[in-house]
Amino acid sequence: MQPFAYTRAADPSDAVAAVAAEPDAAFIAGGTELVNWLQDGLANHSLLVDVNALSMLGGRV
Ligand SMILES: Cc1cc2nc3c(=O)[nH]c(=O)nc-3n(C[C@H](O)[C@H](O)[C@H](O)COP(=O)(O)OP(=O)(O)OC[C@H]3O[C@@H](n4cnc5c(N)ncnc54)[C@H](O)[C@@H]3O)c2cc1C
Repeated sequence: MQPFAYTRAADPSDAVAAVAAEPDAAFIAGGTELVNWLQDGLANHSLLVDVNALSMLGGRV
């Protein structure tokens, strides 16, 4: 697994701006697919933007 930065978005516009600013960034929600892809080297992202706390997703953390 390649090293990556992680940030938790406070609101939807922060999440979109963070991913737009980093060419290799991706959203992470539950991670059921993305973490497996990262572990297997099928995906490499320099930054993961956690969208779990966003109210539009129900505010689950
Ligand atoms: C072992 C296993 C079992 C599974 N079982 C099922 C099942 O029973 N039923 C089923 O329907 N699916 C199943 N899946 C598939 C998986 O749950 C789905 O693909 C699900 O949509 C992944 O959601 P996540 O929140 O975990 O996404 P993540 O793994 O966090 O992300 C997956 C992709 O979606 C992108 N993404 C995440 N959040 C957002 C967002 N808010 N906006 C835009 N892009 C975003 C990520 O950047 C990434 O490219 C399974 C997967 C695995 C590995």
